[in-house]
Amino acid sequence: MTQLAPIATTNAEPRSIGCIDAPVLRERGQREVFCGLTGIIWLHRKIQDAFFLVVGSRTCAHLIQSAAGVMIFAEPRFATAIIEERDLAGLADLDNELVRVVARLLERRPGIKLLFLVGSCPSEVIKLDLARAAARLSSIHMPAVRVLNYSGSGIETTFTQGEDACLTALVGDAAVAPADLAPSLVVVGALSDLVEDQFRRQFAEMGLGEVAFLPPRRAADLAAIGPSTRFLLAQPFLGDTARALEDRRAQHIPALYPLGAHGTEAWLRAAARAFGVADDVCERAIAPGRERAKIALAGHRERLAGKSVFLFPDSQLEIPLARFLSDELGMRLVEVGTPYLNRQRLGEELALLPSGIAISEGQDVERQLDRCRAARPDLVVCGLGLANPLEAEGFTTKWSIELVFTPVQGFDQAGDLAELFARPFMRKSKLKV
Ligand code: SF4
Repeated sequence: MTQLAPIATTNAEPRSIGCIDAPVLRERGQREVFCGLTGIIWLHRKIQDAFFLVVGSRTCAHLIQSAAGVMIFAEPRFATAIIEERDLAGLADLDNELVRVVARLLERRPGIKLLFLVGSCPSEVIKLDLARAAARLSSIHMPAVRVLNYSGSGIETTFTQGEDACLTALVGDAAVAPADLAPSLVVVGALSDLVEDQFRRQFAEMGLGEVAFLPPRRAADLAAIGPSTRFLLAQPFLGDTARALEDRRAQHIPALYPLGAHGTEAWLRAAARAFGVADDVCERAIAPGRERAKIALAGHRERLAGKSVFLFPDSQLEIPLARFLSDELGMRLVEVGTPYLNRQRLGEELALLPSGIAISEGQDVERQLDRCRAARPDLVVCGLGLANPLEAEGFTTKWSIELVFTPVQGFDQAGDLAELFARPFMRKSKLKV
């Protein structure tokens, strides 16, 4: 690692203060989002020797089985321990039952090194002390398997917050890095292996060879965390994880998120600045990817520039996406909804949003639908439940869930990201022909 430079408070060159202090419409009505169990679908692919045991109801089992249906053909690394209704006296049995279920599972699957007990909504599960159960199971199966717990309950989490809760649990389990260690970089947020490998190469070209990723691909590769850790967020929905890292005195490197050519460049440059990488070295590492991304974006920009877009709250990716759509594709933002607005982690992004757009936090779905219908945007980005009815009303929609399941970060995915927004228009024009 190179010598440590003070972390800049901003890595972008904002053209204006954008929406940093813009008023936000806060709504707390009915909402249409998935619960945090959904994160298991991408997390189980990422951590290759982990297993996710949902302690939940038949509804939870149906959700993850239908959402991750393709895994029926492989041996999946998730399952549901179904908890039927029990009285308080039955809870002690439940603890013992969990011990039996886990013992059976680990006997059958010796490759499991990390087991997550994932909490859910039913009152029987809420009454269970999963942290205590995880500690008990850890002591039984030490040192071969570590057992951690987090909640994916729809009462406490939405969609991407499951990943935040999972990574927070991992930070709690990470070894403590001594304060006198050389500074090291940790990239935080689940990325597809393809994207992770590209970033590793780009960091290596800048001279940053020892970069750790959280979550790691293997449980044993979990980075030690301490005052020498500098971390870059790869996803905007990891507020609790970032706080847990800061509680360990790790330092956040503020940056745009790596979406699009501009976002990726700013993200990489922020890391380079924090580690004192010379400008010419950084430029050489970044330039080829940036050029590829710009070329890939140009055709999509032609198709999308000037079109209006309305984003419903779903994954917490909405603010960086809105910046990408407006800044790099020339789209006109009507309303940008997000389940939660974390100004501290989104400052760079908000600064680049055009002033005067509507930003909303939380949801009152009927009111938001009324605003959307009144604005008649060219494109609506929303969850599955809203897309079909809106299509039936003549709107062009994009399923926001695709943005979480598709590799979209980095220079080489910038064109794919833009295409996700261009495709609904291409589909419509083909249907018209
Ligand atoms: Fe299970 Fe609650 Fe999610 Fe429904 S909302 S699937 S009950 S965790």
